[in-house]
Amino acid sequence: MNYDSENKVLLEVENLKKYFDIKQGFGKNNYVKAVEDVSFKIYKGETFGLVGESGCGKTTLGRAIIRLIEPTSGKITYDGDVIFDGENKKNVNMVPYRRKMQIIFQDPSASLDPRMTVGEIIGEALDVHKLFQGKLERKNRIEYLLDRVGLNTEHANRYPHEFSGGQQQRIGIARALAVEPEFIVCDEPISALDVSIQSQIVNMLEDMQEELGLTYLFIAHDLSVVRHISTRIGVMYLGNMVEIGDSDEIYHRALHPYTKTLLSAVPVPDPEANRNTQRIILEGDVPSPINPPSGCRFHTRCPYAKEICKEKVPEWREIEPEHFAACHIL
Ligand code: SF4
Repeated sequence: MNYDSENKVLLEVENLKKYFDIKQGFGKNNYVKAVEDVSFKIYKGETFGLVGESGCGKTTLGRAIIRLIEPTSGKITYDGDVIFDGENKKNVNMVPYRRKMQIIFQDPSASLDPRMTVGEIIGEALDVHKLFQGKLERKNRIEYLLDRVGLNTEHANRYPHEFSGGQQQRIGIARALAVEPEFIVCDEPISALDVSIQSQIVNMLEDMQEELGLTYLFIAHDLSVVRHISTRIGVMYLGNMVEIGDSDEIYHRALHPYTKTLLSAVPVPDPEANRNTQRIILEGDVPSPINPPSGCRFHTRCPYAKEICKEKVPEWREIEPEHFAACHIL
């Protein structure tokens, strides 16, 4: 899929920041700078993969976009409507957008209320948005959704703990689908599941996308999973977006040093090719997002860092058509 001016932008994020206020001793305030000045677009019908190490801010970004958590500043536009503007913070009624924008959580067992039956969990979403007329239509809709995600209709009367992790994630997907969304944030939806189940869930998400015309933001720390499902990929490091490009471009012609290190850690199924792959080992720990490094946040671990990298934040540029990165040496 080639993204050019003819592709409709569904979601636009501009200079988004999310800081978490943390209290420190003697009344001193400090901030975890989880997301810092991130801008990107998601086109209608695509899957935008978002990768980076744990703690890089990708989950925070996903939640801020759909306003499950309140951004600190920046701007978010959904289908032409501004749903957050840090410059002009007015109260946007999010109820209509809650129906259009859904989320599938990483840990299905923690995201399902253990005191509710599966039917009640899915039905709650229908109730909130009044998406049925009469009890029969509600029941039929719940049964259709269970069937759609590969569960039995009699599962509606059971509780989440009676299901395996894969089945619980299917329930989470049915709940997200219940309100007929357009856009779904898939927040590491397979990382808590057995490898044998992961591909089933990914295939189901792909089938649903084709059938229902959905748009996904697919968050993962595993570049090989993201490559399989994504149209384009964004790479985050310590709250910053460092590279965005077409999925194959990122995989075969990554530009940013951090993306290259992530790629070098992806195992290749061919043992010969694996032997010839040059691993790039990152030195040191991930710095604290409370006090991130000056200039390029990656400079403390980057094998190519120069003096300028410590002093100046690299500019976000289109290095090649539709391939963006922020690095002084590109
Ligand atoms: Fe490395 Fe400098 Fe590029 Fe940052 S700007 S990735 S430190 S070379």
